[in-house]
Amino acid sequence: MKILSLKFRENTIKIIATLGPASDSEQVIKNLIKAGVDVFRLNFSHGTHEEKRELVKLIRKVDDYIGIMADIQGPKIRVGEFKDEKTFNLQPEQEVMVYERDIIGDSEKFSIPMPNFINSVNEGDFFFINDGIIKIQVKEKKSDHIVGKVVTGGNISNNKGVNIPSGKIDQKVPTEKDIKDLELISELDIQYVAISFVSGGDDVLHVKKILENYGNSDIKLISKIERPVALDNFDQILEVSDAVMIARGDLGVEISPDKVPIKQKNLIYKCNKEGKPVIVATQMLESMTNAPIPTRAEAADVFNAVLDGTDAVMLSAETAIGKYPINAVLVMNKISYTANENMPNRVPDEYDSDRLTHTQTLGHAIHALANEMEDLNFRGKILVITRGGYGARMISKYRPPLPIIAITPFKNTARELNMVWGVQPFHIENIDFFNMDAESIIEQSVKFAVEIDVIDENEHVIILLVSRKFERRGNLVGLYYVGEILENSSED
Ligand code: PGA
Ligand code: MN
Repeated sequence: MKILSLKFRENTIKIIATLGPASDSEQVIKNLIKAGVDVFRLNFSHGTHEEKRELVKLIRKVDDYIGIMADIQGPKIRVGEFKDEKTFNLQPEQEVMVYERDIIGDSEKFSIPMPNFINSVNEGDFFFINDGIIKIQVKEKKSDHIVGKVVTGGNISNNKGVNIPSGKIDQKVPTEKDIKDLELISELDIQYVAISFVSGGDDVLHVKKILENYGNSDIKLISKIERPVALDNFDQILEVSDAVMIARGDLGVEISPDKVPIKQKNLIYKCNKEGKPVIVATQMLESMTNAPIPTRAEAADVFNAVLDGTDAVMLSAETAIGKYPINAVLVMNKISYTANENMPNRVPDEYDSDRLTHTQTLGHAIHALANEMEDLNFRGKILVITRGGYGARMISKYRPPLPIIAITPFKNTARELNMVWGVQPFHIENIDFFNMDAESIIEQSVKFAVEIDVIDENEHVIILLVSRKFERRGNLVGLYYVGEILENSSED
């Protein structure tokens, strides 16, 4: 099988693309990977289980190493369906009727099929649709619908999200639908579950428990930060999560948009310190849903997210329902690459976590070593040999100035590392790392990396070997010349 992602990539920033009607075909998936996608996001707010199963199969048919994320809906309120699945436009000042029961919508009426919707709003309250774009004020409550006045207009279509601020709706995470979705997710070849509307560490642990009960304790958990309470409880959420998504769509309605950028910076810094991948999501290139080029403001947003220190940037509508999914990825790739080129060198002391481990200390030291090599014009790369990916994350978080190649005996680790800044993961097959000494592991890994063309003979490599087997002697770091390793290994 030809694996599209199995090659050296210049961009250190990871790109996540949401699949949807605009992109869920074999050809588009292929082109998205070629354009730079590292992880695909399946949005469980839309579609059936059967469709998700097929989609995972399709992705795996195209590429066995790409990462897959399942995003579960959580207690998200959504509008119902619209006539002929069309998009309608709501005009400012117009009246609309919003029903609690499921009806087919148009530009004058639609439904918010949530039990108690009518009870949970008062006359005079506002609510929002589509990440805050449409604003409606409740004028009158009737028995089965409300009459609303459109304050800010915009486009509306099937299943768009609704926000009713004032926090009256307090449903649990995960919801019943989430639990059903988790059952399916636990059976599929999926690396990450993104949990919507997390409010504290317990929500995350609850999802973990459910997945374990379904027999999956491998899958990694991403907490979506999109409510004020999640900001308050962020430290405990981070502690129990494997990764974080700054879900600016809902967050920017739940707190005001002017407060989002500083939260983004603070959350990213905390994630970086712990070496846990962080994603900036939503509206990054929103206008590209309908246009082939981004606005200057969007270009600046992607650029600045990179300077803030994000591992990954995400596309939602742009690739799921947009007219230019491939272009959106190409543009994202280009902006994030340029941003990364302009990133100031990190001061590693600022990124040490309080959790002192040997591996973190070595990650810190490798940053210094890599800088030294750059200063001396040594051509080289960093090679980390890792089982679960921790070693790779501990190097990445210091943002060293050399490419990081991660070699792992576990396919799943390779897939997961697609979300970590700068790490190019490769799965080495048919090698029994567990019964080999350190020398042979290094030799085999270097040979493999040369074979697949990600390092070459005339380079130096900083090698970090993290393996429990060697813990008594500490993890191993060394500086090698590739040509010499190859020569020595051909002698014996
Ligand atoms: P959503 O999450 O697209 O599932 O709502 C992302 C966000 O809220 O930004
Ligand atoms: Mn959201």
